[in-house]
Parts: sequence; structure tokens; C-alpha cells
Amino acid sequence: MSRLRKFSVVVGTKCTFDCRHCLLDKRTRNKSLKEREKRLLCEVVRRYAPASFSFTGGETTLYVDDINRISSAFPESRKLNLGIVTNGSFASSVEEARKVLSSIRGLTYVQVSYDKFHAEFLPKPRLENLFNACMESGIGFRVVTTLQSPFDLTVVSELKAIGRFEIAVQKICDIGEARKNGVAFRNFVFDKKVLVRMCPNRDQLVYHCGKGFSICCANLVYNGFGKYCLHKTPEAHFSSEFYGVMRNAVLGKLFDKHGGDPASLRPEHSSPCALCEHIFKTTDIVKTWMKRKR
Ligand code: SF4
Ligand code: SF4
Repeated sequence: MSRLRKFSVVVGTKCTFDCRHCLLDKRTRNKSLKEREKRLLCEVVRRYAPASFSFTGGETTLYVDDINRISSAFPESRKLNLGIVTNGSFASSVEEARKVLSSIRGLTYVQVSYDKFHAEFLPKPRLENLFNACMESGIGFRVVTTLQSPFDLTVVSELKAIGRFEIAVQKICDIGEARKNGVAFRNFVFDKKVLVRMCPNRDQLVYHCGKGFSICCANLVYNGFGKYCLHKTPEAHFSSEFYGVMRNAVLGKLFDKHGGDPASLRPEHSSPCALCEHIFKTTDIVKTWMKRKR
């Protein structure tokens, strides 16, 4: 049995918030795992015992029973490193936060999404409650904050005032509600450094509720290229043309190889995922694959 390095499961898309920068279109925020998907995920976890295993959403704490069922399939002989990504809405008090955290068996870390858009729904004391509950329970705590512009970095000093924990910063992708509401991060010029980047997710596997397995965490999955990048099983994904290409591809070389037009590169293509989506939209990569399949 080989181990997966990082496996994350989008356990459902329902949420307690309605953020303007959500990568999920709000019309799709109503999904839960079907019984056959839960059985499949138990089998995958049993077989591959992922070294790092996390659940994302939607709001993951709406799906505690599913999380416990799937993680209970993890082999007892292996060390479980289990995390959830949450918006922290449940942390109305330290006590309440502790209660929810203790209902998730084997939880080792909590990653909270917090930025100016989440702040429209999450009063900061809830974030502090969750941090304190994690500290008391010996559970790791970190925050991922997203930027619409560099000015949004001020949130980092607000977070530092709460306590000492890891803070990761990401730019908002042009996807889902962020695209509709025009709040994705905008570069002023095209950043050529992206041409030597690779897929940042190439060593991870994600299961997207109702969709399938992919190393792709967002842009291709949600912006219309699911049929090329999603597969019904990890085995089908790892033996796919998509994975064979994306695990080693340098994005600039992929763009050139498939006849990408350098004049089409704009400031908004400055992140690996935006450039990757541009390659799928504007080059002959998809046509090449379709021809080979015939
Ligand atoms: S960004 Fe996260 S917290 Fe906000 S609506 Fe989307 S899933 Fe919910
Ligand atoms: S959009 Fe492309 S680069 Fe980004 S995670 Fe998906 S496959 Fe990887």
C-alpha cells in the first residue's frame, strides 16, 4: 500500500456564511456527500492512509458525522494527522468551541479562514474563543487570510494581536462569487515569474463532493474544465493524461508547447492557477487530448 502525502475532502458545500469572495457559487452551496461517496472515501482512506488528511467545505462543522465516519476508516497502525478548515462560526464561547472540537475524533489541527470578507459574518471574539479552545485542547491552530489588494494585509497585525499562530496569506482567485462580485486580487502588470511555476497542488489529492478526485483544488474544477481534471477514483486520476502532464509541467513551457499566444498574457494571469486556466481556455491542450482519445 502506498501512502498519499496530502488528501483533503470537500465534505459538503453548505455554509453558515455568505462571503462575497467565496470560490463556490452560492447556487452550489447545498451539497452533501452521498452514501456511495462516503463508502468510497472510507475505502480510499483505509487503502492510502494519507499522511496529512483534512476536511474542507462549505463549513465543515456542519458535517461532523460524515467526518467521523470517514476518518474512522484510517488504519489504527498509522499516525493520524487530521485537520478541518472552518469559518469559526460555532465558537460563540470557549466552552461551545471546545464542545464542537471534541466532537471530531482525532482532530489535530484547525485552520480558520479569516479576512475582511469573513469579518462581515464572524465577530473577532469568536476567532479568539476558537484560538483559546484549541490552545486548551492541544489542537494546532492557524489562519489563512486572503487578499483582494495588498492593503488587506492590515488584517495580519489584527490577527497577531490575538496570539501566536501561523498565518498564511493567499490572493483571492477569480472564481465563483469572487468572479461575480469582482473582488479577485488584481495585479497591475503580468508577473513573468509565474511562467516558471508548477501546479502548487501537484502533491495533493482533493475529493470534491459530488464531483470526483483531482489534484486541482479550484480553478479548473469550478471554471468549466472538470471533465478533464476530475476522476471517479484516485487510481483513475493518477493514471490520467491530466495528472501525467500536470505533476511535472512548468506552466510557461506548457503554454508554449500548446501554441499559447504571449500577447494574450495579462496581469490577471500572474498566479499559477489563473495561468493554468488560461492555458486550458486558449491553447490546443484540450484538443490534443481529445484527438489522442479517439
Ligand atoms: S468563503 Fe468559506 S465561509 Fe465564506 S461562504 Fe464560502 S465556504 Fe462559507
Ligand atoms: S488550476 Fe491548475 S495549477 Fe491550479 S491547482 Fe488546478 S491544476 Fe493546479
